[in-house]
Amino acid sequence: METDKKQKKSAELKNQIISGPQVEALKIAAVYGFFGMLWILLSDRLLLFFTDDLVLYSQFQTYKGIIYVVLTVFLIYVLVYKRTRVISRYFNRLQDTAFIDRLTRLPNRAKLSEKLDVMIADKQSFYLVYLNLDDFRIINDTLGHLAGDRFLQLIADELGESLRKEEFLARIGGDDFGIIIPGTDSEGIDQRIEEIKSGVKKYWSSDNHRFYVSFSVGVIHYPTHTYDASELLKRANIAMYQGKKTGKRQTLYFEDEYMRNVTEHINMTNKLQDAIDREELTVHYQAVCELRTGTIRGMEALVRWQSEEDGFISPDYFIPLAEETGQIFEIDNFVFKDVVARKKELEKNGLLNISIGLNLSSTILMSDIAFPKFLNNSKNMDCDYTKLVIEITETAIINDLDVAIERIGQLKSLGFKIALDDFGTGYSSLTHLKRIPIDMLKLDQSFIEQIIDNEKDAVIIDSVISMAQNLDVLVIVEGVENAEQLEYLKKYDKIRAQGYLMHRPEEFGKLFQKIERAHT
Ligand code: C2E
Ligand code: CA
Ligand code: CA
Repeated sequence: METDKKQKKSAELKNQIISGPQVEALKIAAVYGFFGMLWILLSDRLLLFFTDDLVLYSQFQTYKGIIYVVLTVFLIYVLVYKRTRVISRYFNRLQDTAFIDRLTRLPNRAKLSEKLDVMIADKQSFYLVYLNLDDFRIINDTLGHLAGDRFLQLIADELGESLRKEEFLARIGGDDFGIIIPGTDSEGIDQRIEEIKSGVKKYWSSDNHRFYVSFSVGVIHYPTHTYDASELLKRANIAMYQGKKTGKRQTLYFEDEYMRNVTEHINMTNKLQDAIDREELTVHYQAVCELRTGTIRGMEALVRWQSEEDGFISPDYFIPLAEETGQIFEIDNFVFKDVVARKKELEKNGLLNISIGLNLSSTILMSDIAFPKFLNNSKNMDCDYTKLVIEITETAIINDLDVAIERIGQLKSLGFKIALDDFGTGYSSLTHLKRIPIDMLKLDQSFIEQIIDNEKDAVIIDSVISMAQNLDVLVIVEGVENAEQLEYLKKYDKIRAQGYLMHRPEEFGKLFQKIERAHT
């Protein structure tokens, strides 16, 4: 209500001013002209009424002129004063709105910067605390932007309530908030930040949905780090982001190393984009064999980046980077095309039973935008997918298993087979095996590394393999590097293996020749 009234008043003011300077000037001139004429006509008549002595008449004319000037001065003063008051009130209000966030009514980023500038100029020391809500996107996505706005207003209120007089809270933008806490108390600051965070309720409910509320927080101290306002904000943001990347819900204090990470991140992102644009990425293929007989049953496509400047760069390094920047879509699409071309070539040579595995990043699988695109691409590709295996890592789909299962179903309806990759790392759970409709299970190489020395691992492998086989899921053991491991694994029937012992990915030229020779 209050805001409505304010907005109405502001609009009226604006109308008064914007109605045009000509109109305003005309109004003043008209009033002046009207009263001027009135004065001349009436005052001359009045004078004649008092006297017909010419000397006296001309003396009175002088006084009349003086009175006229005084009256017009007064009139112009009143008119101009009125107008300038309206204009200055309007500009004051305009200035207020330029510094206030409309949604939360908190000071905005510009005001926070101004406040920082003042404190820096006054040589005051302070902590700049940069808060970002974890997973705010989920609220916007599931309940819509209006609910997201209400949630932000509530957070602003709750943060505001626990604020002390000397502290300053602002909404930086989106789901970012900033707090200035004066002082240098490095011991008390942790506790103070915890207090502020715990002033916000742990759960937020709306429309039968319940959300856990948490923050990622970046902190920087001035003058320990002597920068201007915008650099302080940037660095506090970087510290926050670093915490977000390593698991959220954390408070991190800015360190120079974070800055170096960001610079390197930007450099590598640019280099990777160049490599994509110049088509410098290639695809290698590693054989997947029958473990007991060594017969080649399939292969896995693995992307490679040989950088002109930095030499070989491991996918373990650039794939996570590409997932963060969104470049993964281009990469996986490129690999997918290569896989489809290889598949068609194999078919042409009569090799219909060789399967090819394709790693599909979970960022694509779980994205509402990239996944439908991937499905569409696949539909337009005119390929029999029954021998293509999409490899998905378990860790990434666990957060939203229902969505993942639905999408895996969509892939399967196009014919793709599904493999659960890197099983045994992270959240692995045998119960997932029952829920996720997979065709293959790839046991991570960390399992195999220890298998001979570590009895516990051997027991786990036993139970995983027998459970998978009971569910009719094919098991592939990854990372078989030596004969001892191979011998040990031969006790299991019907499993497949992939590893340097059988074949190295870079020797894929030989692999294709071997397959073709075996066929003819
Ligand atoms: P991954 O899917 O688990 O792929 C198997 C990795 O194990 C490959 O590493 C392969 O070269 C390596 N490897 C195979 N046999 C052995 C062995 O006997 N010993 C050892 N120590 N390693 C072995 P690579 O090619 O470096 O790829 C690493 C990861 O990068 C892959 O793990 C996969 O998660 C990802 N990746 C690779 N290519 C792509 C791709 O085209 N798209 C996506 N989204 N991810 C990819
Ligand atoms: Ca894989
Ligand atoms: Ca793997």
